[in-house]
Amino acid sequence: MLGVLKGLVTTWKTHWRAPVTVQYPDERLPLQPRYMGFPGLMWDAEHDEPFCTGCQVCMRYCPTGCMFVEMKDNPKFATGESKRRKIVADFTINLSRCISCSICVEVCNFEAIEMTHHHERAGYYPDQVAGLPTLFQMSADHRAGVGQKPGHETRNLL
Ligand code: SF4
Ligand code: SF4
Repeated sequence: MLGVLKGLVTTWKTHWRAPVTVQYPDERLPLQPRYMGFPGLMWDAEHDEPFCTGCQVCMRYCPTGCMFVEMKDNPKFATGESKRRKIVADFTINLSRCISCSICVEVCNFEAIEMTHHHERAGYYPDQVAGLPTLFQMSADHRAGVGQKPGHETRNLL
């Protein structure tokens, strides 16, 4: 009998509690600053080129094999405009296979890639493969959303 009464009291209290759920997608809960969605590539505004050298370290460490990276000679190195001998030529991430583990961010020696708040990617396979422009845009959007300057080193700012 006591158990039944306790259960009724709990139900009564819960009935008056404000709901913690929202009507997605019309409503969304705010993301925490450190929330990790999918990775994006940062842009070096000072030299007007990517931070990424295309070294493929992230590609080799990615546990799901969803990254593809190619490197090329940096034309700006030849003209003295940049100290990067190599620069990324092509970079794609199949976001449908990315598990947002952030290993690519941890292993990058050039602080070129960061975890962004992008996470809503429902759709068909071809739309899930993000190329260079999309990956740069994801980082830029993320930084605009959290009030960070584009291209600045992430870990010191968070
Ligand atoms: S977050 Fe993890 S799974 Fe996604 S691209 Fe980076 S290393 Fe691969
Ligand atoms: S993001 Fe970093 S680790 Fe990956 S290819 Fe570019 S420079 Fe190398």
